[in-house]
Amino acid sequence: MTRLSAEEEAIVELVARFVDNEVRPVVRDLEHENIYPEALIEQMKELGVYGLTIPEPYGPYAVTTQCYALVAEELARGWMSLAGAFGGHSVVSKLVLRYGTQEQREQYLPRMATGELRATMALTEPDGGSDLQALRTVAKRADDGYLINGTKTWITNARRSGLVALLCKTDPAAEPAHRGISILLVEKGPGFTVSRDLPKLGYKGVESCELHFDDCLVPHDALLGGTEGAGFGQMMAGLEVGRIQVAARAIGVARAAYDDALQYAQDRKTFGKPIWQHQSVGNLLADMATQITAARQLNLHAADCIDTGRRADMEAGMAKLFASEMAAKVTLDAIRIHGGYGYSQEFDVERYYRDAPLMIVGEGTNEILRNVIAKQAVGRRKLF
Ligand SMILES: Cc1cc2nc3c(=O)[nH]c(=O)nc-3n(C[C@H](O)[C@H](O)[C@H](O)COP(=O)(O)OP(=O)(O)OC[C@H]3O[C@@H](n4cnc5c(N)ncnc54)[C@H](O)[C@@H]3O)c2cc1C
Repeated sequence: MTRLSAEEEAIVELVARFVDNEVRPVVRDLEHENIYPEALIEQMKELGVYGLTIPEPYGPYAVTTQCYALVAEELARGWMSLAGAFGGHSVVSKLVLRYGTQEQREQYLPRMATGELRATMALTEPDGGSDLQALRTVAKRADDGYLINGTKTWITNARRSGLVALLCKTDPAAEPAHRGISILLVEKGPGFTVSRDLPKLGYKGVESCELHFDDCLVPHDALLGGTEGAGFGQMMAGLEVGRIQVAARAIGVARAAYDDALQYAQDRKTFGKPIWQHQSVGNLLADMATQITAARQLNLHAADCIDTGRRADMEAGMAKLFASEMAAKVTLDAIRIHGGYGYSQEFDVERYYRDAPLMIVGEGTNEILRNVIAKQAVGRRKLF
């Protein structure tokens, strides 16, 4: 299923070593103290993680979507927050690369490739994240630029991002509404405030913020690709890679839970034998291994569709839907296998269990993805 080159396999291996040697020894402390992982992010920059989706001449080396997914999976195996910290950045990289003007590519991509400039995407608003066509943030065209007013919420990494791909309405009266939606590439400046960090169940260390735009003026050339009204379609295409990244995060978290449970089930003895030899526990491990493998294959298939120039809207949706529901189940089963220790903060399984639900909600909820898949299924008729 994978078409990785030897060089790409070496990249995945390098990131796996980074996770084992640098991340796993410190993750529990960072998590419980909710500390931003500055040093680990710096190492990720050095490893080239922020440039994985940015090809020459802007970046040193872009990898296939399959390799990108496997790197995200490895990082999430160490700590989901690390994989989350570059998810939105990669989507914005793809957007600028695919739809940006030549000036926008030259202005942003070289610095994004090194991680010197980090980016996030701002879609969700306090009144809704699923019904994006109803969004309320407006960018009004004036002589000297676009005047932005509105509020965004749940924006990952907003404090540390120097660039925000902002989904907003440049024509609030447009019918249908998506024709009035555009993406503006917004840098920090007057009228733009990161107003609040949102407390949350998991995904610790990395900030999720509310953003306020109050008469924030950006130049006309902040409009992605220079075309008004194209933003909704641009963002939907970008989200295909985003959903593969979220699926990879779910698989990484589930793998970590499985690894810990597999070890524990061999070490822990009851009734005179290792607990994996009790059929109920062995069955849990068997189901975990099967489900994780299935999710990985679905995700690699979605990534392969992108790598071979095929559409991946349905496939990325399926991968994210299946992998995230799988991770929620696998992480709970890992707690079962650990018994009381599964509930302890001195073990990692409670973290996996808290991190898993984000992948059900983020990058399009699973309910929305089922709508997408059903529409595609009816439209395409043939599954294969
Ligand atoms: C930690 C975290 C990080 C995030 N990072 C980002 C980010 O960086 N950028 C960003 O823009 N957003 C981000 N989000 C927001 C996330 O994408 C949204 O929360 C998500 O899209 C859902 O939107 P909502 O919360 O407004 O729920 P709603 O849209 O209000 O949905 C509520 C419920 O109704 C269901 N529902 C709604 N409409 C339908 C329908 N038509 N059919 C069936 N069910 C439906 C939903 O599935 C859900 O169960 C993040 C969220 C979290 C928790």
